[in-house]
Amino acid sequence: MIAKKVHLDEKEMPRAWYNIVPDMPNMPEPPLNPGTGQPIGPEDLAPIFPMGLIEQEVSQERWIPIPEEILNIYRLWRPSPLYRAYHLEEVLGTPARIYYKYEGVSPAGSHKPNTSIAQAYYNKQEGVKRLATETGAGQWGSALALACQFFGLECTVYMVKVSYHQKPYRRSMMQVWGSEVIPSPSDRTNAGRSILEKDPDTPGSLGIAISEAVEDAATRDDTKYSLGSVLNHVLLHQTIVGLEVKEQLKKVGDKPTVLIGSCGGGSNFAGLVFPYMPEKAAGENIRFLAVEPTSCPTLTKGSYAYDFGDTAQMTPIMPMYTLGHDFVPPGIHAGGLRYHGASPLVSVLHRDGIVEAVAYTQNPVFEAAVTFAKSEGIVPAPESAHAVKAVIDEADRCKEEGKEDVIVFNLSGHGHFDMGAYDAYFAGDLEDYTYPEEKIADSLKNLPKVK
Ligand SMILES: *Cc1c(COP(=O)(O)O)cnc(C)c1O
Repeated sequence: MIAKKVHLDEKEMPRAWYNIVPDMPNMPEPPLNPGTGQPIGPEDLAPIFPMGLIEQEVSQERWIPIPEEILNIYRLWRPSPLYRAYHLEEVLGTPARIYYKYEGVSPAGSHKPNTSIAQAYYNKQEGVKRLATETGAGQWGSALALACQFFGLECTVYMVKVSYHQKPYRRSMMQVWGSEVIPSPSDRTNAGRSILEKDPDTPGSLGIAISEAVEDAATRDDTKYSLGSVLNHVLLHQTIVGLEVKEQLKKVGDKPTVLIGSCGGGSNFAGLVFPYMPEKAAGENIRFLAVEPTSCPTLTKGSYAYDFGDTAQMTPIMPMYTLGHDFVPPGIHAGGLRYHGASPLVSVLHRDGIVEAVAYTQNPVFEAAVTFAKSEGIVPAPESAHAVKAVIDEADRCKEEGKEDVIVFNLSGHGHFDMGAYDAYFAGDLEDYTYPEEKIADSLKNLPKVK
C-alpha cells in the first residue's frame, strides 16, 4: 500500500506556539555573562537580539500567539503534510505504525523557515535593518535569506568554509534571495582574523562562524544577530510542527508512543516532541528519542556543563551537553548536526532521563535513507536520515517484540542539495567515523570555570 497523507485544513493551523517552560520538571541553570560570570538579564542580550525575541527567550507563558503576518507566510507551505508510511511498514514487515511529518515542503527545503520567518518579523518590527548569522551546510543561511527577503532586511551569512566550497548550490540559493555569503573564518572580524593567523587552512566550524556573526552584529548599530537553533525562542517557533502533528493524528484516531527527531542544536526534535510534554508528564506511554552522528555525539558522549556557544567565547555561557567550544568536527556530510553543544532545554530533559539519545555512523544512516526513499519516494536530507535510521531500528524492535508502537518522526528536510553525499555513499567513500573519547576529554578540559 502507498503512503497516505493526513489532511489538515489551513483553517485548522495552530494560532499559538507552545512554550514548554511552565511544564519543565527542572529548568536549566541560568545562562551566565561571559565577562562577569553572573546570570544574564534581558539587557545583556539587547545588543544582539530584538526585545520581542528576548521576551520569548525568557517567557513563562505556556501559549504565545503567532502574529497574523507570520501565519500568512507560514501558509505558503503550512500545514505541512503528515504521512502514514504504509509502504515502509510493509517493506520492514513491522507491526508498528509509522508516520512522518514532512518539513521539506518549505521554500528552503527544511523546518528552519518556521523560525527564520518569525525572527525576521520581530527584528523588522523593531526597526532593525540588517541581520548577521552563521550557517553550516547552508540550510539555516538559506532559511534566513528567504525570511529577510520577505521582510526587506539585508542579510549577511558567515558560512563554514568547508561547506562554502562543498555546497555551492546552497550558497547560490542564499544569493538568489539577496543575501551576502562569506566563507568563515574570514578577515572581516577579529574572531575570524585571529583563527586564520593560527590555522590558515582550517575547514572552519559552526562555533567559529557564530563568533564572527555575533561580532558583526555587536559592532554595528543597524544589525542584529540571528541563531537557527539551540535557543528557547527558536525551539518555541518550531513547536508549530508538533502542534500540527497532534491535530493530524487526532483526525486518524492515533496517538504516538515513540517520537523521533535528528538532533543538531535540537530545534526540529524539540519542535516535534515538546508539544507532547503535558501527555508525558501525565504518565502516558510516550518516548522522546533524539538521534545524532557518532562524529559529533553531543548528547551521547558529551558532558552536561556550562560552556560557551562559540569558539571565541563571546556568547553567554550556557548549561548544556557539550563536546567543548573548541571542538572542530570532522567534515561529515550531515553538516547541520555538527554543533558542539545542544539546546539547554533539550539537554536538561536528557539529563533528567526524559529525552533518550542514540548515535549512528554514516553508512547505516545512508542505507536507511535509501530504504526510505525507495519505499516512500522522498529523498531525506542526511540530517533527517539519522532519524530515519532510528525509526527503522525501532520498527525492527517492534517486530521482534510483537509490539504495535506508533512511531512518529520529523522528516526535517529533503536531500536535493546533498546528492554529493549520496554519491559518496554509493561509491563506498563514506567513513564510519566515531569521534575519539580522548579528543572529547581534551576539548572538555577547556570548559569555562564557573562557581
Ligand atoms: C539544521 C537541520 C537539522 C539540525 O538542526 P536542529 O536544530 O537540531 O533541528 C536537521 N535537519 C535538517 C534538514 C536541518 O536543516
